Amino acid sequence: MRVGFVGLGAMGAHMARNLHRAGLLTAVWNRTASKAQALAAELGVIAGANLKQLAANSDAVVSCVSADADLLEVTRGVAADLASGSLMIDCSTVGAETARQAAGLLEAAGVEFLDCPVSGGVEGARDGTLAIMAGGSDAAFTRAMPILSALGRTITHFGPTGSGQAAKATNQIMCAGIIESIAEAMAFARAQGLPLEKLIDTLGKGAGSSWYFVHRAPNMARGEFPAGFRVRLHAKDLKICHDMAARFGVALPVVERMLAEYAELIARGFGDEDVSAAFRLKAELFERTNIMSAPPRPPHRDA
Ligand code: NAP
Repeated sequence: MRVGFVGLGAMGAHMARNLHRAGLLTAVWNRTASKAQALAAELGVIAGANLKQLAANSDAVVSCVSADADLLEVTRGVAADLASGSLMIDCSTVGAETARQAAGLLEAAGVEFLDCPVSGGVEGARDGTLAIMAGGSDAAFTRAMPILSALGRTITHFGPTGSGQAAKATNQIMCAGIIESIAEAMAFARAQGLPLEKLIDTLGKGAGSSWYFVHRAPNMARGEFPAGFRVRLHAKDLKICHDMAARFGVALPVVERMLAEYAELIARGFGDEDVSAAFRLKAELFERTNIMSAPPRPPHRDA
């Protein structure tokens, strides 16, 4: 099977390399062409001049782009040039409804669509150990397995188109709560004067540990938040969760709180930092408290 890859960002470049290792990658395309040209030269594959050319050289297209509108733009870009019977696998995180729209754009051309959002961070993309949540027909899922196996270790088919994205939205709610609690705990630990590296090593083996604690608490200890999973991308995901819950008339407290914190970080120019930058706001809580609880200054006496 000839596989073309679209979207060579923090996740996509690693995923394309893993498809190459599995002997499946034939072409890459990226909106910023220089990234596609560099990776194509490194791997010895075609850098598509445009989406049409990429589609014409592919039996399956895998995409990993930022957000809903981007996926629909890419889908329109490949729809006319993918042969009937080919496959599009989208690994971006978008709304379940957007996944169904993308599937609709391809249906008339006889192209099957699978929503396959992923979890496991940039490290999981690099190591080919992503958890993949698929939505689409049984037949499309079976055909996609050689591709998905090159990208991830845990691959689950949840049901029809959109159900992969519903599973991913569930994951993003969990991540929001975990990131918030780790940021809060680390700010607390720093205020206690604890040795943070030692703390991470110990608590990382305890009951409160998680992937985020082990992999991102070190960012908080260093006060550096390189992307990673960008704040603006998780904010985008939580907006999707907000909209999906709102259809039930529900506002989820964890989602609403993290949306507000991310909005604050984005407003201050930290939207492209890793989500562990949530620590910035939690650390400030203690800085403010320190100012307010500083011992009162002695009364001023004239000499
Ligand atoms: P990223 O580093 O910001 O890369 C985004 C990619 O999408 C870039 O290649 C970008 O092209 C491309 N793109 C954006 N808009 C486009 C458009 N309209 N048309 C064509 N290409 C477009 O993001 P990322 O971290 O790789 O994340 C990609 C997706 O995976 C997102 O949906 C994210 O939520 C999801 N995800 C990320 C992580 C993570 O830890 N980073 C984990 C799980 C899932 P340019 O190079 O031209 O900007």
